[in-house]
Amino acid sequence: MSSIIKQAHPWLDGLVAYDPGKPIEETARELGLDPEAIIKVASNENPLGPSPKAVEAMKEAAEGVNIYPDGGGYKLRTAIAEKVGLQRENVVLGNGSNEIIELIGHGFLNPGDNVVAAEHAFVVYKLMATLFGAETIEVPDPDFVHDLDAMAAAITPKTKKVFIANPNNPTGTMVGQDGIERFMDQVPDHVMVIFDEAYYEFLHEPPDTLRYVSEGRNVVIMRTFSKIQGLAGLRIGYGLTTPEIASVLQKCRQPFNTNAIAQAGAIAGLLDIEHQQRTCDLNDEGLEYLQGAFKEMGLEYVPSVANFVLVKVGDGDAVFDLMLKQGVIIRAMRGYKLPEWVRISVGTMEQNERCIATLKQVLS
Ligand SMILES: *Cc1c(COP(=O)(O)O)cnc(C)c1O
Repeated sequence: MSSIIKQAHPWLDGLVAYDPGKPIEETARELGLDPEAIIKVASNENPLGPSPKAVEAMKEAAEGVNIYPDGGGYKLRTAIAEKVGLQRENVVLGNGSNEIIELIGHGFLNPGDNVVAAEHAFVVYKLMATLFGAETIEVPDPDFVHDLDAMAAAITPKTKKVFIANPNNPTGTMVGQDGIERFMDQVPDHVMVIFDEAYYEFLHEPPDTLRYVSEGRNVVIMRTFSKIQGLAGLRIGYGLTTPEIASVLQKCRQPFNTNAIAQAGAIAGLLDIEHQQRTCDLNDEGLEYLQGAFKEMGLEYVPSVANFVLVKVGDGDAVFDLMLKQGVIIRAMRGYKLPEWVRISVGTMEQNERCIATLKQVLS
């Protein structure tokens, strides 16, 4: 090993870079297929595409990119604050909501600390904790639902953060208001609670976590433009927290971490309620169809409130490969220690039907 590599942080040894869903272009190249013939239901993206109003705003913003963006994100933070009923000082923008996780690490994590998360929680929490030399305490989640009482009990004096993905990816399950309130009653003052609400807008009965921000608790709520708004490629999301925590996170970000086109697209997308409603309706229809099909096929699945379903297919990697060859990209779950499962995102009804037809063929 060259001496420069030995200088890397020792805790990076155990870290494996995040493995994203397979891109359509790459799949098309490998299979010699037309990209148009491939469907990707692997990354919980919006099958309707971005809000047309966001696209319009982004085109306009493109004309002005000789100028640096508004580093403070004044307009977008104001629009978000108005939407959720908080102040601009409560809002921190990130290059995707994933960046908020990193900013929290920069601001608040030291080597030797630990973070608490559910065993099958979104994997990025652990990646980020590892990046800062912190341990992750993984708490069992019976039936793939976060066990908040067990998570509260897992807190130690060295615990700095608890991550609650609500709903969680890849399980599609959520915890409700009662469980959250009982949990918040148990959390000691030295612990920050992070509610990752990337799929919040798909929920029909969303729990209220904003109240904890208003009450001044040590809470960060993360939301994103990547899912219901259909702007995943733009990389923009946000954290909602107390002004005190927000001011620490603001110090930890790059001066221009969210770009001008993203800010413009996000504002327009935020205001396009109709596109969000259409997405939500399509998702309800698709969830019902997919889960009905799994039931009919005799496949075990985890009932989902998000825009994807975790389903048990036997050999997840093999099913992934066989479906890929048919031009249908899904997500294998070995990385989540669920080698028998795959995660399938809700697409358009046409995509859902093709996905199920291909799955039936592959499993027979
Ligand atoms: C998709 C997703 C996000 C969104 O990440 P971005 O960086 O905003 O694209 C965050 N958390 C979870 C659990 C997700 O599944």
